[in-house]
Amino acid sequence: MSPTPRSPSVIIIGAGMTGILMVIKLRKAGITNITVLEKKDKIGGTWRENTYPGVACDVPAHMYTYSFEPNPNWSNFFARGGEIQQYFEHVVEKYDVSRSIRFNEAVTDARYKDGQWIIETEKNATYTADFIVCATGILHHPAFPDIEGLNEFKGEMFHTAQWNHNVAVNSDKRVGVIGTGSTAAQAIPELINSGADVSIFQRTPQWLMPLSDFTVSEKVKQRLNKYPWSVKLMRKLSVFMMEHFFTKAVTGHFFQKKLLEFLCKANLRFSIKERSLREKLRPNYQVGCKRVIINKTFYRAIQKPNANLVTDAIERITDKGIITKDGKLHKLDVLVLSTGFHPFNFMRPMNLIGREELHIEDAWSDKIKAYRSMLLPNYPNFFLMLGPNTPIGNFSVIAMSEVQGDYIIKMINKWRSGEFDEVEPKPAAIKTFNDYIKKGLKGTSWVGGCQSWYLDKDGDPVLWPYTWGRWVNEMAEPNMDDLVTTKLDAEEKKDEAA
Ligand code: NAP
Repeated sequence: MSPTPRSPSVIIIGAGMTGILMVIKLRKAGITNITVLEKKDKIGGTWRENTYPGVACDVPAHMYTYSFEPNPNWSNFFARGGEIQQYFEHVVEKYDVSRSIRFNEAVTDARYKDGQWIIETEKNATYTADFIVCATGILHHPAFPDIEGLNEFKGEMFHTAQWNHNVAVNSDKRVGVIGTGSTAAQAIPELINSGADVSIFQRTPQWLMPLSDFTVSEKVKQRLNKYPWSVKLMRKLSVFMMEHFFTKAVTGHFFQKKLLEFLCKANLRFSIKERSLREKLRPNYQVGCKRVIINKTFYRAIQKPNANLVTDAIERITDKGIITKDGKLHKLDVLVLSTGFHPFNFMRPMNLIGREELHIEDAWSDKIKAYRSMLLPNYPNFFLMLGPNTPIGNFSVIAMSEVQGDYIIKMINKWRSGEFDEVEPKPAAIKTFNDYIKKGLKGTSWVGGCQSWYLDKDGDPVLWPYTWGRWVNEMAEPNMDDLVTTKLDAEEKKDEAA
């Protein structure tokens, strides 16, 4: 780097897990002109939004933390949502992240013009920046089911990501839940345990892996606080388990795949006593095709007398409840929509406009793709975090973000040293990357005969099909041969400054 490196301005969109991380990483690299634009009045992203009963992370807590901020105080092996939110609030306070955040600033437009990004917000504020780091997350737009009569329902109705805590759920209530994904598997046992009559409307059964969630005693917490190496060890063991068992099981490694299959099938066989219920809960697709649900409470709860698994398809919703195809009306007081998210929105509905007025809707009209999940041709100096093909089955998105964050810092440092003014991927490189991904996807369980949020409109899973180790190695250094770098001439820079 030259003796006096240039000082870039960076706008980060979103103050969730990745946005917070990037503020800390950028400052550590000596970059201080940072503004985070957050649409809500609080940090936390997914953990701020999802407050449904039973919300927890199915990645072990000690690896669902920033590597530089271990937490010896987790109360459970799989941390509860509220505690994760508290962890991020603690990090924000400790690293004084808030001073860089503008809350209630939803970005509506980001346009690349004359070598700079111009960002506009709902409040009509305008910002300019040399770089945008888009930290808008993956699953943040709730998907509402397209079921006839949905809005006719006269009882209380809400999506799990917008839980209405003013609605009491108790033994006087008849509650319906549509969906049986990861979220539902956590919320349903809590609803059943409240004593309410709970009807679960299942369209497709899921495979469940019975991993125990143990509580961490105060004594163990004290030990973890006293011996920081033991927290690191917990993290290493968790990473080892997730990498060498779960990730490999769904990415075509024979032994792990068979073991996972055996454990899920045995779980169904031995947890569900009644044969007809067991058959209703048996998926007809490969284990791991949909995200494996790590859960020990769902099967127990569903066998309670106040639980009713409905497998007849939903015909329509009325003011009183749900009518199924067999003509039966299931009367309900509360209807919970656990119907997932729109996983392919990324930064949208923001108007992201690159070179030559290229709108993101047009850039992605054919297929949603990004070079190394992060860079888009015609969108110079723009980094998308947790973009397409980032998620690794059942692995920690925090670990993935840290690798992406380091990659971004390396790129920005090249800009600081004057190596380039603009950087974007070559169209050929994005094609090569996508061919490489496609090749890996063939061996994965995600193409194992099911419908899931992993699949794009062509049926291609938008996940990373290789190992965690390969992800880390391949992202270690930017491959500049894959990128187009430009230097703006002095005239352009003068215009820019003006
Ligand atoms: P999801 O996995 O997409 O599940 C949505 C559920 O709603 C499915 O059972 C789906 O049925 C059903 N559904 C959707 N539309 C329907 C309709 N019109 N009629 C009937 N059923 C309908 O969503 P999710 O459970 O919210 O989980 C999404 C992801 O969030 C997870 O895969 C995971 O990555 C993440 N998550 C993680 C945790 C964690 O512990 N870390 C917890 C919760 C969520 P079909 O299967 O038939 O489509």
